[in-house]
Amino acid sequence: FGSQAPVTATLFPGDGIGPEIAEAVQKIFKAAEAPIEWDVQLIGKEVDPRTISYVTRENLDSVLKHRIGLKGPMATPIGKGFRSLNLTLRKELGLYANVRPCLSIPGYKTRYDNVNLVTIRENTEGEYSGLEHEVVPGVVESLKIITRVASTRVAEFAFDYARKNGRKKVTAVHKANIMKLADGLFIKCCREVSEKYPEIEYDEMIVDNTCMQIVTRPSQFDVMCMPNLYGDIISDLCAGLIGGLGLTPSGNIGAGGLALMEAVHGTAPDITGKDLANPTALLLSGVMMLRHLQMNEYATRIEKACLGTIAEGKVLTRDLGGRSKCSEFTSAIIDNLDD
Ligand code: NAD
Repeated sequence: FGSQAPVTATLFPGDGIGPEIAEAVQKIFKAAEAPIEWDVQLIGKEVDPRTISYVTRENLDSVLKHRIGLKGPMATPIGKGFRSLNLTLRKELGLYANVRPCLSIPGYKTRYDNVNLVTIRENTEGEYSGLEHEVVPGVVESLKIITRVASTRVAEFAFDYARKNGRKKVTAVHKANIMKLADGLFIKCCREVSEKYPEIEYDEMIVDNTCMQIVTRPSQFDVMCMPNLYGDIISDLCAGLIGGLGLTPSGNIGAGGLALMEAVHGTAPDITGKDLANPTALLLSGVMMLRHLQMNEYATRIEKACLGTIAEGKVLTRDLGGRSKCSEFTSAIIDNLDD
């Protein structure tokens, strides 16, 4: 500990409970002496004409400069003529892969206690390409785009992630029996990449069967790699297996290892400003950020303190079945840092 040079990371506290949980993360990182300096960025109050979004050019430049960031939930402003915040970040920063580790949390009882899988979702194309039009009244055509470049890029990320994180298997999820060309190309690319990683087992599973297998025997999965739409649905399904969105961290990865980690839950307007939010998802996203920066000792130290606090079951936020406030839960994690 203590020997690593500090790294500056962008921090978007976000909206709603975002600032409360971001403060909790900053406190815990400070107490753990994690060598991170934060460049705090607030989303603009009006649309920035340079980005056609409430996300400003300065917001984007901060992430492009530091190449690492942590993001709280953001409320999507309602109206026309600008892009959604998350879409702006994803497109402008080229965040092509979404990573969600789903790990059973000891002490927090769910239907399964042996989930330890990672979903990796292609983030740029598929059904989410935004290419839709009405051909004639009452008939809409929506294009699903699958390219060799994007499929190979996300498959390479999945195998590289498996190798770097000591994982044993990658499962490509698809519907190539029906979408023979589109999903056929996706799994062809996954297969080609798999040949470069002989030490990692590779298999393929059709998406409908995958859903059934996940809810009946989740322990058979390790790393799962999939196109955009299946990834969107399956990553939420997996979050449900471990206790919901309040506990699930995620990461968005772009070219050259640029990374923006984020909690997957929203701004929780019903509990905003009441010191009731659970900071776990954002904290574990911060842990992912530390691992991405190779600061593994700090990551493990913070992760152990957080999971240990939940396992003890004495100081828990309301969503975890406890009665404690966000600030009390944060202090309990800090007290557990040295155990
Ligand atoms: P939500 O996730 O904000 O809330 C759903 C329920 O979960 C609420 O009861 C809330 O209190 C609870 N909850 C969520 N996170 C919690 C936490 N950390 N601790 C304790 N309880 C928690 O979903 P929603 O109500 O559908 O969305 C609210 C707003 O959030 C919307 O404006 C939406 O656009 C935005 N949103 C943003 C993101 C993002 O920035 N990535 C993701 C989802 C929703």
